[in-house]
Amino acid sequence: MKPSPTPESGHPLTDARNVLRWAHATHGPGLCVTASFGDATLAHLAATTIPGIEITLLDTGYLFAETEWFADSLRERFNLRLRVMRPQPDLDRDVWQTDTAACCAARKTEPLERALAGRTAWVTGLRRSDSATRSTTPLVHTDLLRGVEKINPLASWTDDDVATYATDNNLPEHPLADRGYSSIGCWPCTAPATDSADPRSGRWSGTEKTECGLHVS
Ligand code: SF4
Repeated sequence: MKPSPTPESGHPLTDARNVLRWAHATHGPGLCVTASFGDATLAHLAATTIPGIEITLLDTGYLFAETEWFADSLRERFNLRLRVMRPQPDLDRDVWQTDTAACCAARKTEPLERALAGRTAWVTGLRRSDSATRSTTPLVHTDLLRGVEKINPLASWTDDDVATYATDNNLPEHPLADRGYSSIGCWPCTAPATDSADPRSGRWSGTEKTECGLHVS
């Protein structure tokens, strides 16, 4: 019978580290950790819990320059083993203006699927407090679409947990964080949050779109 991660009974940080240790023990090189680098939390937590673990950044080609800089500075500072996945080179550069679903499919989903090729598990930084649509995010479940186990070690973390972790570990902040960007994606589709109760309200703001397609169930 497959072992299971520590249940959500202790401190969120302890739980998250236990989940990551369990994931690594269970999946070994089959583990793919992705971080969006909107903050330093998951990259730092993963790299300090599983030394030498590869951290994957999906670079859509439309990341803010500040995100590129932030990821690179964290790579240097914490000696991250960073893997950058980019979209195929022959894409229409303007499609985000007319078809965000097609743009996300080509610039996020397809590179993720390449990143997961040959892997058995995917670690994400999803948190239940990110948005209403993520409020039931489990610690571990099967991503049926991609045929991998999906592991969300920060699922139960609140914004305060993230802030405390950053303070305790002297983590730098993304340069856009103090300009109202509480969730940071691609520059054409990200604005400062419009609703303080919804950290993702600046993403695709003014449209019905709330997710890019990476986190479909
Ligand atoms: S968030 Fe916007 S720019 Fe980024 S991949 Fe999706 S549609 Fe394209």
